[in-house]
Amino acid sequence: MTKCSACGGESFYTRRYSGESLCVACFKSSISEKARRTVSKYKMIAPGERVAVAVSGGKDSLSLLRVLTSLYGPRRNAIVAISVDEGVAGYRDEAIDHARSLTEELEVEHITLSYKEMFGFSLDEALNWDEERDVSSCSFCGVFRRRAIDEAAVRAKATVVATAHNLDDYIQTFMMNLMHGDVARLGWMDPSYSDDTFPVRRVKPFMEIYEEEIALYAYQTGVPFQSVSCPYMHEGLRSEVRDYLNMMEANHPGIKNVLLSSSLDVISRYAHSSEKGSVPCSRCGKPSSSGLCNVCRMKAIVEEHVKTPNTSPFSGQV
Ligand SMILES: [Zn+2]
Ligand SMILES: [Zn+2]
Repeated sequence: MTKCSACGGESFYTRRYSGESLCVACFKSSISEKARRTVSKYKMIAPGERVAVAVSGGKDSLSLLRVLTSLYGPRRNAIVAISVDEGVAGYRDEAIDHARSLTEELEVEHITLSYKEMFGFSLDEALNWDEERDVSSCSFCGVFRRRAIDEAAVRAKATVVATAHNLDDYIQTFMMNLMHGDVARLGWMDPSYSDDTFPVRRVKPFMEIYEEEIALYAYQTGVPFQSVSCPYMHEGLRSEVRDYLNMMEANHPGIKNVLLSSSLDVISRYAHSSEKGSVPCSRCGKPSSSGLCNVCRMKAIVEEHVKTPNTSPFSGQV
């Protein structure tokens, strides 16, 4: 029997990059402790602040809700879960059910906001075009989702939104920004970056934890795994980068940690040089770089191309 490096109990998992062996209880507390240290290192959450946890219903976001509730839980008001319902038939319903049952178990307030309510159309409706679509579903969805999360957080009276991006997500995004030639975007990845023109700050308490450890945490704490994946998902480059990084990690345990710290070093050099100037959007008044925000730009594209029945479904406000 391999012994737990922390308590001497029976180990069930060995961290290849550090050589530590851990029992279930010590592993679970190590995940909370890592998240707590990340939050504190980057001053992600100020004392007394109300945190909205963006809960998609996937294992990562449900685990984040569990961890943050365990860390800040005694003050019940400190945590509120927010979910965005994009309106993808058969996919999002299951996820929102998972989110609802965990928020009930943890006695955490749960606010759901739908694309339909917010923008006047569901994602299913927005992607149903007359002609071939030349904009990817994820680029639409990402823009709308961000706005919806901000709005849900404002309604929840939170000043910070925690998302469940893990270390793997973070270094994949870093590599993808390099591969897209998008060096200017690196500044936005700074964990301490905040843009005063946005209503809420974004933080990623899991950004120093491997995806496989979050999956293991989810499994060990009984967080449900979603059986259906998003029908619009097409990951292209990201899945190739993920496979490559996983292969490198298998051959060189710990290399993802090294890449994270190199990424953060590079990002910190861009963080202060990123342009912060913004002008109000001419349609919705939200901050934009060019006078028309991404949401209104995407909305206009949807309205132009989508198959419209006799009456326009687009009556919602941004
Ligand atoms: Zn132990
Ligand atoms: Zn706008």
